[in-house]
Amino acid sequence: MESYFYTCKYCGKQYKPNRRKKQKYCTNSCRVRAFVLKNEKRLNLTSKETQEKKPIQVEKMSIAGIGNAAVGTLAVNLATSLFTSEENKPATKKDLKNLASSLKQRYYPILNMAIRQDGAKPFYDTETNHFIYIKTF
Ligand SMILES: [Zn+2]
Repeated sequence: MESYFYTCKYCGKQYKPNRRKKQKYCTNSCRVRAFVLKNEKRLNLTSKETQEKKPIQVEKMSIAGIGNAAVGTLAVNLATSLFTSEENKPATKKDLKNLASSLKQRYYPILNMAIRQDGAKPFYDTETNHFIYIKTF
């Protein structure tokens, strides 16, 4: 009985498997896309946990202490750079997004401190009361 079909787990298409039992997707591209999707889900889950530990309020924004232009530049640069916290942990993309949107109220630039050798700027974290460096480029 060679005329029996599998349903692709990614696109739902009926296909005839080359290797029975082991094959789950109709084509290599479906297999790859399903793999990527799985990884994305895993990443989203991880950053959700992080969010729950450190809730950030985005609604009540205040631009006190930081200029709009500066925030814009920072938000753009953050997409391609690393954010170094006081624990020196590299942040996930989701963390960077959260940081960018909460930057206006949470992080205050410290003006009377020198920029670090690697270009990171000093900020005061109003949530943890920590002094941190944020690398923006
Ligand atoms: Zn497919």
